[in-house]
Amino acid sequence: MTNTQTLEKPQAAKRGMLDNVLEQFNSAADKIDLNPNVRKILSITNTEIIIHFPVRMDNGNVEIFTGYRVQHNNALGPYKGGLRYHPTVDIDAARALAMWMTWKTSLAGLPYGGAKGGIQIDPSKYSKGELERITRRFTYALGENIGPEHDIPAPDVNTNDQTMAWIADTYMSTKSTSERSKNQHVVTGKPVGSGGLEGRDRATGYGVFLTIKFWAEKNNQSLNGKTFIVQGFGNVGYWAAHFLENEGAKMVGVQDAFGSLQNQEGIAVEDLFNYGKANSGSIVGFPEAEAMNGKEFFGLECDICIPAALGNQITKENANSIKATLIAEGANGPTDVEGEKILLDRGVTIIPDIMCNSGGVIGSYFEWLQNRNGELWQLDEILEKLEKKLRSTYKKVTAYSEEKGIDMRTAAFAIAIERIEKAYVLRGIFP
Ligand code: NAD
Repeated sequence: MTNTQTLEKPQAAKRGMLDNVLEQFNSAADKIDLNPNVRKILSITNTEIIIHFPVRMDNGNVEIFTGYRVQHNNALGPYKGGLRYHPTVDIDAARALAMWMTWKTSLAGLPYGGAKGGIQIDPSKYSKGELERITRRFTYALGENIGPEHDIPAPDVNTNDQTMAWIADTYMSTKSTSERSKNQHVVTGKPVGSGGLEGRDRATGYGVFLTIKFWAEKNNQSLNGKTFIVQGFGNVGYWAAHFLENEGAKMVGVQDAFGSLQNQEGIAVEDLFNYGKANSGSIVGFPEAEAMNGKEFFGLECDICIPAALGNQITKENANSIKATLIAEGANGPTDVEGEKILLDRGVTIIPDIMCNSGGVIGSYFEWLQNRNGELWQLDEILEKLEKKLRSTYKKVTAYSEEKGIDMRTAAFAIAIERIEKAYVLRGIFP
């Protein structure tokens, strides 16, 4: 474990996300004339953990894995953020994603800070038993660097409720018998029936849908008949598409890690979901749509574009080809700074990630409260609370952006940063 003084220069190939989040932060900080000492604190991460750990494979060999947990800031409460299993996970990705979590939890008005982490791994190459041992060993190695009142992981790319159940069980197993049940909220996104929240599975995608609905309401538009494309048909992409389709919108393009599909007549969301489940999670070969060149995906004719996969997908290379007039950022950091400038100049509206996909962390907060208080909440009550919270954030961000004449991302960052600045100014710096 290291406490950073400065961020190392990022590797060239992965420069994007960290540069983007810092640029977004500095641009909002300039707008609000952020206290210079607070700017220094928020420009770097609090704690960075890199762990190399051995795991026995099914064939008896031992493999060494590398896991990361970066804790950016905890001025407002315990660190909170997902764990990602992907080959692109490295220290820079974890830093960038941890920073976005700090702004996201602050903007949502939650009593949390921001963290992120994961393992540099392609999980499709490992058996379920191997993934369980990898997860449990990583959890054990993290030790007290995570904890229900300290740092609370959640699912992200290629991790799910099963992964969270393994983490919770491993962490709780390290406690004395009488303490175990008090530690269930060490992770959120657990399976319902094992401390999970009804509806946490759909919370992020539902939130993405809600922010699109709020945009439509504000602009006197109907979602019925609108066309949309989704990049990433996993937890976030699928649920966002599901709720949009329920509202009468039509999915005309979809892309996952394996291929891209289009059909201007519409792609039935549930049919594709069921096809994917029976096809090792891949959309490739779905008979009711046409395969297309992935490079042309973002140029598809549509009203709404939902990037819900990885970071840095919309850049100066493809921003000009985008036909959608609304981009709803389901993923974290899907639009880089240069891509965003092109889109804003063209009058495209971007619902920024830290608001658009915040339904997930809001759902996680509800799960954490539920566990902490020994309660069980009902689905309709949860979705209602989520909508209320997100609606109030959406109103705040749009009002701020209109008042100051700035784009929604800068407004969202400004509100988030001001809340943390206030905490620091009130509290002061020890000693
Ligand atoms: P997931 O693993 O469930 O799904 C990811 C999807 O993206 C899969 O369909 C995968 O095939 C696809 N994908 C991967 N690489 C791709 C590529 N290069 N091109 C196109 N598609 C690709 O992950 P998720 O939980 O849905 O997360 C998606 C995004 O949403 C991530 O950026 C994540 O950080 C963000 N997010 C997730 C949550 C959550 O609650 N799960 C909350 C907030 C933000």
